[in-house]
Amino acid sequence: MSVVLVVNSGSSSFKYQLIDMRTETVLASGLVERIGEPVGRSTHTVVAPPADGASPTLLDATYERELPIPDHTAGFGVMIDAFAENGPSLAENPPTAVGHRVVHGGARFFEPTVITPLVEINIDELSVLAPLHNPANLAGIVAAKKAFPDVPHVAVFDTAFHQTLPRAAYTYAIDAELAAAHRIRRYGFHGTSHKFVSEAAAAFVGRPLTELKQIVFHLGNGASVTAIDGGSSVETSMGLTPLEGLVMGTRSGDVDPAVLFQLARRANMTIDDLDDLLNKRSGLLGIAGSADFRDVSAAVERGDDDALLAFEVYVHRLRAYAGAYIAQLGGVDVISFTAGVGENAPVVRAAALETLGFAGIEIDPERNGARGRGIRRISTDDSQVVVLVVPTNEELEIARQTLVAVAG
Ligand code: AMP
Repeated sequence: MSVVLVVNSGSSSFKYQLIDMRTETVLASGLVERIGEPVGRSTHTVVAPPADGASPTLLDATYERELPIPDHTAGFGVMIDAFAENGPSLAENPPTAVGHRVVHGGARFFEPTVITPLVEINIDELSVLAPLHNPANLAGIVAAKKAFPDVPHVAVFDTAFHQTLPRAAYTYAIDAELAAAHRIRRYGFHGTSHKFVSEAAAAFVGRPLTELKQIVFHLGNGASVTAIDGGSSVETSMGLTPLEGLVMGTRSGDVDPAVLFQLARRANMTIDDLDDLLNKRSGLLGIAGSADFRDVSAAVERGDDDALLAFEVYVHRLRAYAGAYIAQLGGVDVISFTAGVGENAPVVRAAALETLGFAGIEIDPERNGARGRGIRRISTDDSQVVVLVVPTNEELEIARQTLVAVAG
């Protein structure tokens, strides 16, 4: 029996999925949140095993509990109680490994890695590059190891897939000594999703990954785009941190760095103010007043001009990156859209590629507008470039990579 527990830990919450890797089906998933607050919350969803031919995501039931959860260790106790009370039984489906999402692996980690005490020290040390994320990921690792001490724990890094970037793509044109001293370079993020989607896309079109030039747009609350040549990431829009690149829910993406000097000097903003501005109060939220793409779309429908501008800026940037990445790759075979906006907003997909007919990209409006759950083609049969919607599944990718690392 090969069952993997996948953990995605934040500072005051963690998500989990128990996945049966023989069939790659989810047995249960859950969220433990408000850790450290007076009242915490645990939500646990049991997924019924698929009847023959039925959908494997047939939801059985969701259970909720509210209780104090002082720390991550207590959180894993709450999770184990949820399994005991609601199933499936961890005794009958014992995890053979635990896979952890870790945001920053720096230049040190380029593949999924079995977590030893030394790896924990390295993840901790990399907190200088991801002060919000790595400590929270590590808190989850430490607590999960206490809860499941007898199985291997594996770190799967968001940055790892992008360790193949050529130096011309990852180097910022600043003072080289300073950059080296502080490890200032492009790392890229969402790597687990870009890897999963590019592999699923290659399988869908029935061509070897190694032969394909691909562009993957991961458009969620955070958003990034990656150029993938023969299965390797060769260019990506997020940089030292997940702030660079596309317009996001609350993040600005690309701005002239001098905007910061200007605001510091003229608006007396501190470094922390500017960090907060660009990470939490910009993007769709900054222009349109909402970070949620559905709200922005609804406002566009109502004729709200701020929302329309946000949409225009969002799409303008997607087009610029699409064109640039086609140029970097020297052509493209497959373009995929994934994550909340990418999977659900046909208007964004159409607008992003609208001007690229000259590059052999032709979207079929009917296919693009049709609702669907699985991987699907939205380009015309005549389009030289295949355009796909590919639902991402980062948890499954983490589970797969966990097994790879454990197999050594
Ligand atoms: P994610 O980070 O992948 O969960 O994506 C979150 C983003 O996807 C939010 O901006 C949502 O508004 C957007 N989103 C989710 N569902 C839809 C939908 N049906 N249509 C448009 N946007 C959506």
